[in-house]
Amino acid sequence: MDIVIENMTKTYGRQKAVDNISLQVKTGEVLGFLGPNGAGKTTTMKAITSFLIPDSGKIFIGNISVNDNPQEAKKNIGYLPENNPLYEDMPVIDYLQFCAGIEGVAKDKINDKVRKVIQTCGITREKHKKISELSKGYKQRVGLAQALIHDPEVLILDEPTTGLDPNQIVEIRELIKKIGKEKTVILSSHILAEVEATCDRIMIINKGKIVADGTAEELRGQAQGSEMLKVTIEDGSLDDIFKGLQLLNTVELVDFADKSTQTFQVKSKPGQSSRREVFKLCVEKGWTLTQLTFVETRLEDIFRELTLEN
Ligand code: ATP
Repeated sequence: MDIVIENMTKTYGRQKAVDNISLQVKTGEVLGFLGPNGAGKTTTMKAITSFLIPDSGKIFIGNISVNDNPQEAKKNIGYLPENNPLYEDMPVIDYLQFCAGIEGVAKDKINDKVRKVIQTCGITREKHKKISELSKGYKQRVGLAQALIHDPEVLILDEPTTGLDPNQIVEIRELIKKIGKEKTVILSSHILAEVEATCDRIMIINKGKIVADGTAEELRGQAQGSEMLKVTIEDGSLDDIFKGLQLLNTVELVDFADKSTQTFQVKSKPGQSSRREVFKLCVEKGWTLTQLTFVETRLEDIFRELTLEN
C-alpha cells in the first residue's frame, strides 16, 4: 500500500511544524526521514497514523483517506512511536496478546500472530519476562513486535534504534530491511549512517519543509556541483606544488589535506575537471603523483548544508 501526503500543513500556535509537504512512498520502499530536532518528522508521522489531525492537506494509505476514514486507515498501519511507550508491568507475551486484541486480530488468530512476531523480532527467550525487566534493545524489539502484530501493510517507525548498542542497531536495521521488502516503511532517524544502510530513499526535512529527496547517491550527485580531488605529490616542495596547483586554469581552490604527506584537496571550477591538468603539471615539473582520487561529498555535509541555520 502506498502512503501519499498532499499539501499537508500543521501549525502549533504561530509555529508551522509542517509546512505544505507532499510525498509518496511506494509499496516495498523504505523511506528514511531525516531532519534536525524540531524539523517536523514526528508531527508528520503522527498525522499519517492519525494521532493528530493536520490543519490542511490530504493523507492516503492505499486508497483509504486518513482524513475521512482514520479507523480503517489505522488497521493497515503499524506504529512505533518515539520513546516506545509500553506497559512495563506486563509480561511480553501478555502485552502482545493485549495489543493483538486492540488491533482487532480475531480471537482464534491471536496466539498464532503473537508467536510469529515473537519469532520475527527475536524475543523468544524473553517472552515470559516482564517488560520492565528487559534491556532497552529488547524493549525496542517488543515495540516493533507491537507495531507488527496485526500484520500491517504500512510501518511508521519513529527513531527505532534510539538508545541501542551497536550490535542491536545492526540487528534491528536488518529486521527493518527484511520487513521493508514487503511493506511500506517510513522511519525517522538522526543517524545518517543508519538511514543510508536501511533505506531505499532519503528525505531531508527542515523547519517543516522537504529540502531533499532521493537515494543517497542522488543526494550526493545533487550536492556535487564541483569536482573535488585529493592529490598527493612528492619530489617537489610543498610551497611550489601548492602554488602550481592554484595556477591551473580549471582549479578554483586548493587546500592542504595533510602537509606531512604532501596531500592537497583541489576543488575544480563548476562543471570542470582538473585531473588531466594535475597530471600534466606533475610531468612538466618532474614531480611524482602518488594519489589522485575523488572526494565524495559525505551525507553529513549535505545534511549540514541543507539544515544549518544561516
Ligand atoms: P525531533 O527530532 O527532536 O524528535 P521532530 O522533527 O520530530 O524533532 P516535531 O516533534 O515534529 O519535530 O516538532 C516540530 C515542531 O513542532 C517543533 O518546533 C515542536 O516544538 C513543535 N511541536 C510539536 N508538538 C507540539 C505540541 N504538541 N505543541 C506545540 N508545539 C509542538
